[in-house]
Amino acid sequence: MKVAIIGGGASGVFCALQLAKNNNVQVTLYEKNETTLKKLLITGHGRCNVTNFVDSKTFLENVPHNSKFLYTSINKFQPYDMIEYLNSLQMKTVVQENNRVFPISNKAITIKNAFDSNINGKINLCLNSKVEQIVLNNNKFDLFVNNSHQIFDCVVVATGGLSYPTTGSDGDGYKFAKNLNIKIIKPRPSLCALRVKQNIKNLEGSSVFCELFYSKDNKIKCSSKGNLIFTSFGVSGPVAFNLSSKIEEHSVCNDDLIVDFVPEISFDELRNKILNYKQNNSKRYLIHCVNEFVSLKIANYLLDYVKLNKKMQCANLSNENVNQIIQLLKRFKFNIENFDNIERATITRGGVDVAELNPQSFECKKINNLYFIGEVVDVDGFSGGFNLQIAFSSAYACAMDILKKC
Ligand SMILES: Cc1cc2nc3c(=O)[nH]c(=O)nc-3n(C[C@H](O)[C@H](O)[C@H](O)COP(=O)(O)OP(=O)(O)OC[C@H]3O[C@@H](n4cnc5c(N)ncnc54)[C@H](O)[C@@H]3O)c2cc1C
Repeated sequence: MKVAIIGGGASGVFCALQLAKNNNVQVTLYEKNETTLKKLLITGHGRCNVTNFVDSKTFLENVPHNSKFLYTSINKFQPYDMIEYLNSLQMKTVVQENNRVFPISNKAITIKNAFDSNINGKINLCLNSKVEQIVLNNNKFDLFVNNSHQIFDCVVVATGGLSYPTTGSDGDGYKFAKNLNIKIIKPRPSLCALRVKQNIKNLEGSSVFCELFYSKDNKIKCSSKGNLIFTSFGVSGPVAFNLSSKIEEHSVCNDDLIVDFVPEISFDELRNKILNYKQNNSKRYLIHCVNEFVSLKIANYLLDYVKLNKKMQCANLSNENVNQIIQLLKRFKFNIENFDNIERATITRGGVDVAELNPQSFECKKINNLYFIGEVVDVDGFSGGFNLQIAFSSAYACAMDILKKC
């Protein structure tokens, strides 16, 4: 059987590694870049958080979007299987905070090198080869690459999403799918920062442990707790990334982000603390009181925002002022402009509609022997190694299905 894999990223290369074990399959892998696994090299800040060492049930709880579709593939090839596979390539791994798994070398390049050396000579690797078009012809696939074309029995599309296009993933898989009448869910950024409408230049660089809520039409839709970093245009850091991934909505402009700057203090406790402060520090300024709970930079921003006199003596705080401070600290509202640009998002939400694919194999229901795997499919997980594992597990399910046919 002649198989073409389009895309030499994590999913495409892993699929090739599985298929290369069988001599009855002739695999050609097309990669438009001059080398494979360009995106893998930048994962985990160059350390590659390769998977997350949890059982499959916990794994799926970390997939906020279309987790049911992944049930079979994640159970078939679990994080532990990935760790064992890496061990079989003499690559030791280490489990760190929150079950994140890294190569013991702490370098993504060791994974790339091991994968590359295990496909070399076993498959036909075509670098600098951008697939332009897939044409279905009498149950075979005609692939147009670099001004020539080749015929295959089976095609695996592993072209990734739209994020970090300099690594090569710039949406070609969606074009292939559309031309073959396969439904695409409109892509949008995920695991990304959120832009806000307010001018927050004065907050840039501040970080805070908080709870962040996403609110639409004045209704809280989802929330996340953790570290937030203010940038020149909005909110970033783990809590913002996590929240962006929980948001189901496609468009968020005109919705709100609400920050609880003191998530470990209840409303009543906060009121008591402020009243105590007022009583014991009557001569001190309001800014000192707010600074008890947040950094001076954030305290200045919050009080300027509502135009409260920062030098007001605490003794003069009215009940209304106390309510205002509680509201500022526990429910500060930013208006969302949008998600950050997709080019800077860690992953793409959307892509090939899972309803088009068989969850056992990632084969198209409409077109036999055509598969979509990895980020080009509309599934995504939280950060922590879940997205690479989705790439590996989908590639494994697809490869096993192809091998069954040989
Ligand atoms: C900065 C960053 C850090 C990340 N860190 C982590 C992490 O630590 N852990 C984790 O689990 N996930 C991480 N991710 C997410 C993870 O990298 C992706 O989920 C994963 O790479 C998806 O694999 P893929 O094979 O589907 O797509 P990709 O890795 O994007 O590979 C797609 C490949 O297809 C090629 N291609 C595209 N179109 C064509 C064409 N027409 N012809 C030929 N080739 C083509 C591209 O050049 C590319 O090499 C990170 C992502 C980013 C951007």
